[in-house]
This record gives sequence, C-alpha cells and structure tokens, in this order.
Amino acid sequence: MKNICENMGCNEIGKFKAPTERDNSKKFMWLCINHIKEFNKKWNYFDGMSENEIQTFIKSDLTWHRPTQKFASADNFFSILWNNALSDKFKMFGNKNSFNVNVSKLSEKDKDAFKIMGLEFNAEWETIQKKFKTLVKKFHPDKHSGNKQYENTLKKITLAYSHLKMIMIKTK
Ligand SMILES: [Zn+2]
Repeated sequence: MKNICENMGCNEIGKFKAPTERDNSKKFMWLCINHIKEFNKKWNYFDGMSENEIQTFIKSDLTWHRPTQKFASADNFFSILWNNALSDKFKMFGNKNSFNVNVSKLSEKDKDAFKIMGLEFNAEWETIQKKFKTLVKKFHPDKHSGNKQYENTLKKITLAYSHLKMIMIKTK
C-alpha cells in the first residue's frame, strides 16, 4: 500500500519521511517530493532557533492590515508560516484542546483575527483548528488553478490563525 503525502490538501504519493518532532526522529510523516523540499527549507530555517525565537519571528510579521515589505518580498515566509500554523510539532498545547480566551481581554487586532476566520470571539481552540482546516481546503490555491485571489485569502486566513494561536499560547 502506498502512502499519501500528509501535507494538507496534497494527494501525491508520500515517498519521503519527515520528522515530526525536532529532537525525536522516531516519529515521522510521509511527504511527496515537493513537500519534502519545502519541509527541508523550513526545517533548516528554524534550525538553532529556540521556540521563543520562532514565536517572536512569527508574531512580528502578523500584519495583514498592511503587508510589510518583508512579508511581500519574502515568498517563502508564507510557506514557513503556513507549515508552522498547520503543525504543532513543538507540542505547545499537548492534548488540551478545549479552552478559550477571555473575551474582555481581546484587542481589536485579536478580534479581527476571529472575524477573518468567521468565528465567535469565545470560540474554543479546538473549534479554531477545525475551522482553519476547513478554510484551507476551501481556499487552497491548488483547487483553484493557482488563482492569486484565493491565495491571498488563504494568506490572510493563515495569518489570522497564527495570531489566534499566539493568543491561545498566552492563555493556556
Ligand atoms: Zn505533497
């Protein structure tokens, strides 16, 4: 039996093993040639960075209102962000999925992130994750012949999701 690439939305045959944890190569997922390349790029990028540094990196670029030059010019920034959003390889949340934020403590930007994803402000982390996966499937550029408009929507959603993830990390 052949393995299917485990990258979200990909249906290629997964021939390559990619570790799912930084320090434990026993656990892995199967990826196709294109996604193993992308994975390796990301993996090297984060090499030597602490979890905090990675989070700061992601957080500093969460500017969907006015894209920074850095974001616009760094094409692979998005793939890094997206891959990171999709995985929980640092086990930030463990098995705890049903918790939410204190709505009264949300900033306008926080609220925007919920709105962009079409979620209630009191949505639980589990609900946010499910919604994100649904939206990724819906707007994946591969499903729309690489249509830029869908790509931009997906970027926006990914940034909003990453932002919500940051809030959840602080709340946890
Ligand atoms: Zn793939």
